Amino acid sequence: MCENNTDSHIHANPHTHDEYPSFDECVRFHGHSCPGLAMGYRAATAGMRRLGVKRPYDEELVCIAETDACGVDAIQMITGCTSGKGNLIVHDYGKHVFTLISRESGRAVRILVRQVEMPEREAMDEMRRRILSGTADEGEEHAFRRLMGIVTERMLKCPETEMLEVRDIEIAPPAKARIFTSVACACCGEPVADARIEVIDGARVCIPCAKKVVRR
Ligand SMILES: [Zn+2]
Ligand SMILES: [Zn+2]
Repeated sequence: MCENNTDSHIHANPHTHDEYPSFDECVRFHGHSCPGLAMGYRAATAGMRRLGVKRPYDEELVCIAETDACGVDAIQMITGCTSGKGNLIVHDYGKHVFTLISRESGRAVRILVRQVEMPEREAMDEMRRRILSGTADEGEEHAFRRLMGIVTERMLKCPETEMLEVRDIEIAPPAKARIFTSVACACCGEPVADARIEVIDGARVCIPCAKKVVRR
């Protein structure tokens, strides 16, 4: 171990990486700890390691997520890909699959989170059903949170080969975010990026207004 090691190494589990934000930081960003966030954390750190990149400061990395669930927040925290910068593309395919593309090296990896053996799954699904329908009592909610904690911990410690399938792929990165000029919508008068204008009966309108016109 080198001299500049700090205390953080003592707490580090084998899957955390000092160059990336910790799982706790992801939890602070996301608002709660959950198995989905842990899956995203594992996928993001594994993908970054395979690409050999640190957390970027801007648009050097692109992520394509095939789920819009909790895991995406860990992806944003770890990879620095965010929807605001346009380098996080989220498809609601309901699949825990993330593709990371490095614009610098031209390399890309596809990370699939496998269905991990989870004896608690059935009990958790039943509890979630009762909580969502409002029929669970306080004790059940507590038990649910405890189970979630156990499963999350397992996700964080599960051997990578068991949990993830990481492979190099060939894919071209999407175009960088462009800067648009704003024009006023002919219908609502609100400023809108010119590239998002639609022309309806010769009038330049925003997409929400265009939808209203078409519906009428
Ligand atoms: Zn969550
Ligand atoms: Zn409008």
